[in-house]
Amino acid sequence: MTETRAFNFNAGPSALPTEVLHKAQQELLNFKGTGMSVMELSHRSKEYDAVHEGALARLRSIMNISDEYEVLFLQGGASLQFSMIPLNFLHEKQVAYYVLTGAWSEKALKEAEKLGHTKVIASSKEQNYSYIPAVDCSLTLENPAYVHITTNNTIFGTQWHDFSGLPDADLVADMSSDILSRKLDVNKFSLIYAGAQKNLGPSGVTVAIVKKSLLERSHSNLPTMLNYTTHTKANSLYNTPPTFAIYLLSLVLQWVEEQGGIEKVEQRNEQKAALLYNSIDDSNGFYTPHAAIDSRSNMNVTFTLPTEEATKKFLSSAKEKGFIGLAGHRSVGGCRASIYNAVSLEACEALATYMQDFKNSYL
Ligand SMILES: *Cc1c(COP(=O)(O)O)cnc(C)c1O
Repeated sequence: MTETRAFNFNAGPSALPTEVLHKAQQELLNFKGTGMSVMELSHRSKEYDAVHEGALARLRSIMNISDEYEVLFLQGGASLQFSMIPLNFLHEKQVAYYVLTGAWSEKALKEAEKLGHTKVIASSKEQNYSYIPAVDCSLTLENPAYVHITTNNTIFGTQWHDFSGLPDADLVADMSSDILSRKLDVNKFSLIYAGAQKNLGPSGVTVAIVKKSLLERSHSNLPTMLNYTTHTKANSLYNTPPTFAIYLLSLVLQWVEEQGGIEKVEQRNEQKAALLYNSIDDSNGFYTPHAAIDSRSNMNVTFTLPTEEATKKFLSSAKEKGFIGLAGHRSVGGCRASIYNAVSLEACEALATYMQDFKNSYL
């Protein structure tokens, strides 16, 4: 592979494995002897069906998802899930409980508020979402529809590391920015959802993993496309699915297998994050981390520099060196390096070195 690839630290859409793009390129004009690309196949053809079934089976295998769950490929992004979840599962006399850990959980809550009763059971908003708040596990939840959490907070750079101690109720999790980044016991959750464009593939497809027992509690009289049951009954083929995005997702899943599975991917993610956090911690205060130590994300590393001017300089010379996507979100400021699965160890090593060099030359 001789072509120049950027060191891509974009928050989403984000880096895809080079091997995946090569494979898609090779197959683009003539997918498995069909004389057409996956984009041009009928979604009812046997060739597309193999792609679709293969992607579902691989995801089940990699995440160890049992038969008690349905796996769905949906559209509308994680953002549509913010509405679909309360639409389907929040009944009149019930309460949906939310833990607020960032902008995405706020948005999820806002949609549920339009549809029924909600309550916030923990929040770190008053500290600009710099940590994952503890949930009082002695809480008894009145008529819970579900408890909603955001496992990785893409903008603020915090991540849940421990799911014990949550009150007893169906647990719903937005895993858009850390799905498939670490080993996970799916059985702790009743619904997991994720837009694909961070760790799973390109934008356009959203994965939902839904427990069958939760589906049984779903409202029945809903707009067809907003009803999970429509999609479970049709195996995510009720209408035309985003076929090319699902194809790329299946290639990313194959790539995860080739890496040695989720354990290996997790190990490398820990190594990658440690490189950057070490550069922050060893900088004598030049780089200030946003996240509290025990809440640090292995996917989005957020930090600020001493001045606005230093930040500007850091970002502009980073760009010259081929580091892309390092500007922080405006609600935190400073910088953010998103180091999803497809971002290589080499890219993180190069960034860690750049951070040290920049600090030394700036002071
Ligand atoms: C990116 C992101 C979203 C939004 O996803 P869309 O697919 O653009 O709707 C939601 N939640 C989290 C945690 C995210 O990182």
